[in-house]
Amino acid sequence: MINGDVNGSANSARLSREALLDRARGCAVGAAVGDALGMPLEFGPARRGRYQVRAMQAGRLPAGAFTDDTEMALALAESLIARDDLDTDDVLRRFVDWYRRSPADVGNQLSLVLSSVRAGRPRAEIVRQLAGRQGNGSVMRCYPVALRFCVSLPRCLQASIEQSDITHPDPLCGAACALVNAVIWHGLRGADAATAVERALEAVELPDALRRTVEQAPGRSADELQNTGWALHAVESAVWGLLTTDSFAECVIQVANLGNDADTSACVVGAMAGAVYGLDAIPLDWREALHGRWPIHSERVWRVADFVALADALVGRGGE
Ligand SMILES: [Mg+2]
Repeated sequence: MINGDVNGSANSARLSREALLDRARGCAVGAAVGDALGMPLEFGPARRGRYQVRAMQAGRLPAGAFTDDTEMALALAESLIARDDLDTDDVLRRFVDWYRRSPADVGNQLSLVLSSVRAGRPRAEIVRQLAGRQGNGSVMRCYPVALRFCVSLPRCLQASIEQSDITHPDPLCGAACALVNAVIWHGLRGADAATAVERALEAVELPDALRRTVEQAPGRSADELQNTGWALHAVESAVWGLLTTDSFAECVIQVANLGNDADTSACVVGAMAGAVYGLDAIPLDWREALHGRWPIHSERVWRVADFVALADALVGRGGE
């Protein structure tokens, strides 16, 4: 709980509000820096010891550049702010608009869904086509929902599943988003990493395989983690990183260096770790390097101050 809510003191309520904002900013910036740190490691092998990448590096994009994971989160976040709620039709319109502009990166499942929507295919047919697909594309962009619905956990969990269903209707994907956002939700309220995961496991109904995976994640070694584009693997890597390290930087570094779908898993754990550790825990040189054009191919370059303002706007919509 936020102290100010309990004792009614105006002063502590203000301080608590500041603490909440610091963690919300940490979440938004953390997700984007995780994405950028993982970018040059995407599709590569796992790296150990002195071969680990521990600073922003160039890959197919310049050092510090964010990718599709962050672009989709920004589309979702701007819809949540503009519509003052989760309007799934509006979110889908924004995703299609992003896709129409030919992003540098787009996941297989997202490409299938968004090209089908553009072609005017009926929703029921698209959902049938997605049967059994459990990609991580809705998990990588889910954090704005936790910030927007930071007052009500039930609403946060429901909206997490609804935002997943837009492109990833498999129940495992929705549950994965709800779990990640529940961890963020508790982190925003001051829970440490272990407590946030424990409370999220209590709050979210999970398919057995996902629950088992999350519970066993902290006991895994890096060698056992496949870190593929499967939603289950993204959550496994992210929970493993959060629970086996004790700082924002180390957490994101270890997950990004798992390789394979490095940027997405590092983005997911960056959102969770940012909510737990707060904005100031994110290395300054990472924050300063962070950048990317949004809307894509426009002249507008987003930097850390823009993510801070975005977090403030989302939490502001969350109400007092
Ligand atoms: Mg990406």
